[in-house]
Amino acid sequence: MPELPEVETFKRYLDTTSLRQRITNVEVRDAYVLKRVSVRQLARRLKGRRFENSYRHGKHLFVRASDELWLRLHFGMTGSLEYLKHDEIPPETARVIFHFTHNCRLAFDDQRKFGEIELVENVDEFLHTRGLGPDALGIGVSQFKAVVGNHRGAVKAILLKQQLIAGIGNLYADEILFRARMHPASEAARVSDKDLKRLFRATHYVLEKAITLKTDFNRLPKSWLLTHRGKAGKCPRCGRALKSATIGGRTSWFCSHCQKRA
Ligand SMILES: [Zn+2]
Repeated sequence: MPELPEVETFKRYLDTTSLRQRITNVEVRDAYVLKRVSVRQLARRLKGRRFENSYRHGKHLFVRASDELWLRLHFGMTGSLEYLKHDEIPPETARVIFHFTHNCRLAFDDQRKFGEIELVENVDEFLHTRGLGPDALGIGVSQFKAVVGNHRGAVKAILLKQQLIAGIGNLYADEILFRARMHPASEAARVSDKDLKRLFRATHYVLEKAITLKTDFNRLPKSWLLTHRGKAGKCPRCGRALKSATIGGRTSWFCSHCQKRA
């Protein structure tokens, strides 16, 4: 599932391929993806405009088409972007294709159909209405400590809650906790100030490193949990078998030796 690093990677991809080209048509191949906008409205409002810039918050990507018109993309479980030139053929599961001049196109691909496309007039208002918390890479250390430390429940559940901190999903939450050497079921209110700081640093390190590597799992450091998680997986730090448990409604992988419970 695309989390903050994947969506940031899509943002950078879109920024380098698809800005400042005139939109000549919007082809909707499967309308499930459209939220609160019809196929006709989407095409009518975008045609003739250009994507000017983009903004990411958590797992949402907003693409500006004019001062009061933003395209919101959410990638669901399997969404991604593919830019096509000339006679390149879009993937079979492309659901919406934005056509530019010279037969260049941007395809929103979404195999499992959990993606969302919407038009919004005001990004701040959207974030407010959704009740989304600050972006996981935009939040400062004191705010982070307050958000995590002042809430009850397992620290992992808090990291996953988009209304508290936006952008972290199941895989990177496990990675962040592994790096911070913190058990995912640790009660947040019991985590020490020092450990909260360490968790904050781990959050930045993991998300930024994943973005730098364009979230290519084959390039992630072997010292990361992500490349070992799963049945028969061994802790890259101590070599013991990894454990799993359902925490915050999701399957968590961790090393019960290296990650201490607060
Ligand atoms: Zn270990």
